Amino acid sequence: MTEGRSEKLPLVEIGILGGTGLHKIDDIEVIEEVDVKTPFGKISGPFIIGVLEGKKIAFLSRHGKGHRILPSEINYRANIYGFKMLGIERVISINSVGSLKEEIKPRDIVLSNQFFDRTRRKNSFFGEGIAAHISFAQPVCPELTKVLFDVGRELNLRIHRGGTYICIEGPAFSTKAESQIYRSWDCDVIGMTSATEARLCREAEICYATLSLVTDYDVWHEVEEPVSVEIILKNLKQNIHNASAIIKRTIATLQAHRSGECECAQAMKNCIVTRSDLIPQEIKEKLRLIIGKYVL
Ligand SMILES: [Zn+2]
Repeated sequence: MTEGRSEKLPLVEIGILGGTGLHKIDDIEVIEEVDVKTPFGKISGPFIIGVLEGKKIAFLSRHGKGHRILPSEINYRANIYGFKMLGIERVISINSVGSLKEEIKPRDIVLSNQFFDRTRRKNSFFGEGIAAHISFAQPVCPELTKVLFDVGRELNLRIHRGGTYICIEGPAFSTKAESQIYRSWDCDVIGMTSATEARLCREAEICYATLSLVTDYDVWHEVEEPVSVEIILKNLKQNIHNASAIIKRTIATLQAHRSGECECAQAMKNCIVTRSDLIPQEIKEKLRLIIGKYVL
């Protein structure tokens, strides 16, 4: 069996995690839909496996078909473990966000490279008999992020390289007071999903990068006229169009396998602190795809 993937499942090169508004990828030549049973339960919906720009990709809509799953209800661990089961080394995530800065305008794209995590959800594969502590100072893959940035520039899109994404539990949006406080912390955008995914991808040694698509200013912004739902939907539509273009060209640009220049592939090295013989056998089996190369 190939290290880092499951038997009987298709081997896929790149994963795409879609969010609000992005429930499918244009131009993908769909091969099959694959529902994956993970040791962490059900994924948000079947993976759509297909070919895009000559590469085999797996697309997953994190909110499920018809957008039924709230940010707090998403089974993040199952989703990321599912990607791992397909042998995926890189995941590109698409998240809709609100802007916390004047210069980050609606329809801009931010390549968030830092997170401030205010959620209270499960965000680790570890625990229950095994302790591990990953390094998370640089929470996204620099290499994958650079490719996305270069492609965004080539496409003449307004794209910001780097930014702090504050991740809130939701589902309600912020109060004005919260929004002002996040601004005073120098956060750039606000969303509800990406920090959790980034953390789990790091534990799974998957390269992770995120396109934060700005739909509107968060509630701190004083405007003369209230932003209408119609404008937000128009922005969302344009954002999805832009993100699809970036994804398509990025997939065409990426090599079939990561170069190994980033540290994502060895993120778990020396991170497991529990003595190997004391890790319960069922945990070893459950986490085999993540810790198998480090724990006998
Ligand atoms: Zn990487």
